[in-house]
Amino acid sequence: MSGDMLNNPDTMPASYPQDSNEPSQTSSAPSPSSEDQAIQACWGRVNLRMRKDIGDAAWRHWIKPLRVSRLEDGTLTLEAESTLARERVSSQYADRLRVISAAEFNDVSPSIRHVEVRLASNRARSGQPHRLSEQKQAPAAASNSAITASATEGRDDLMAGLDPRYTFANFVVGKPNELAFAVARRTAESEKVAFNPLFLYGGVGLGKTHLMHAIAWHIRQQSPSRKVLYLSAEKFMYRFVRALRFRDTMSFKEQFRSVDVLMIDDVQFISGKDSTQEEFFHTFNALVEDGRQVIISADKSPTDLEGMEERLRSRLGWGMVADIHPADYELRLGILQSKAEQAPVQIADKVLEFMAHRIVSNVRELEGALNRILAHAMLVGREITIESAAELLADLLRASSRQVSVDAIQKRVAAHYDVRVSEMFSARRSRDIARPRQVAMYLAKNLTSLSYPDIGRQFGGRDHTTVMHAVKTIESLSKSDGQLAEDVQLLKSILAG
Ligand code: ADP
Ligand code: MG
Repeated sequence: MSGDMLNNPDTMPASYPQDSNEPSQTSSAPSPSSEDQAIQACWGRVNLRMRKDIGDAAWRHWIKPLRVSRLEDGTLTLEAESTLARERVSSQYADRLRVISAAEFNDVSPSIRHVEVRLASNRARSGQPHRLSEQKQAPAAASNSAITASATEGRDDLMAGLDPRYTFANFVVGKPNELAFAVARRTAESEKVAFNPLFLYGGVGLGKTHLMHAIAWHIRQQSPSRKVLYLSAEKFMYRFVRALRFRDTMSFKEQFRSVDVLMIDDVQFISGKDSTQEEFFHTFNALVEDGRQVIISADKSPTDLEGMEERLRSRLGWGMVADIHPADYELRLGILQSKAEQAPVQIADKVLEFMAHRIVSNVRELEGALNRILAHAMLVGREITIESAAELLADLLRASSRQVSVDAIQKRVAAHYDVRVSEMFSARRSRDIARPRQVAMYLAKNLTSLSYPDIGRQFGGRDHTTVMHAVKTIESLSKSDGQLAEDVQLLKSILAG
């Protein structure tokens, strides 16, 4: 696309095709008054909050189709598309709408006290344009309202779909993600383009999306005038395909090339999709050459992205490439502790430790596990123990279970009792070493399918009767010694598959 096309307003369509998540708009729409714009911006914010509060499905069904028809004397009048919608919104969502609108409409109207829902007039329902301050003059445009355009183009809609919990403050930093965190922060904080592109990669559920949203939130707060656009590669493709279908690639290009910061999440999604890749490549180049910040995430490094054109792969690797490694035990525990701290019920440390040991797949699964535990704790109001946690999380634990080796048992037990692993095979018989060794033998018997003689051999060539004795000793001591029983239970839970 040539530079004068970009700068000449006459050749710039007023809008671009949207995906189904957003109100659509038409290219012949007249520009709305500034009051309309302000109202629509407020309404856009109300929508964002409603969507968060009542969930995507309900929002899409009941709230999204509503149109603001009037704002007068502290009453916000909304129009619904059907009687059913009107009734449902009035009975179920009006209170919430009133509270949220009162807050969000603050800059155009001093305090909204009522929200009224009316049935839309025929003209509005048939999709004719519909303007707030000059309804009678609305020219006939092909579809939908001009006023939605201002809301869609507002900053708030660029931020739509960003999770408010995904902030830097809520991101727990550990060895596996410290580089990615540091460069993400730097990118967000610097007014000038820091690394271009910033390429974040790592396996699923490790925090890529979280970091991208955090960058967006940070920029929005620090430099509200910078235009940030975040979207998944899937959405990028979807919009591109739509633009092709509606022969509207000009506005598609314009939309992307007018932002200061473009973030495309999960770029591996466009692997093998040649025309989307091509378009992405051009968009990417145009932005980078123009000194705009581009931030990309993927599940693999640029060089490993299969089905991606060579020149694009190499281009993606030109800036800063930062990987996120799978969370280690410390980070998993840190994440659990930080999330548990914010929860209304308390979960014992040893339960969190148990979970951090046993759920190793990714952070998303770890979070899911914690939510399940929290929900249970709140419902039954009883303290969660390692046993009940193991039961509640059985499916997850099974999925990440592995065959336990005697070696692993010895290491884990030695670490637990703070003795050297070599003591597991040594001939020393002092109590503080013999007891842990017996615990390890007991666990080996319980957690593996090895025979007594097999186990004896792996404990420095001991006789099978020594192992039998150890197993009996631990069994009977567990009945009287609570501390020992707890240790054994913890170790078992950690090691068991
Ligand atoms: P990805 O995009 O890499 O698949 P997400 O960013 O969606 O992963 O992360 C999955 C979940 O785990 C999110 O709820 C996110 O908030 C959480 N999460 C991931 N890493 C961290 C972290 N270091 N600290 C706190 N939460 C995290
Ligand atoms: Mg993601």
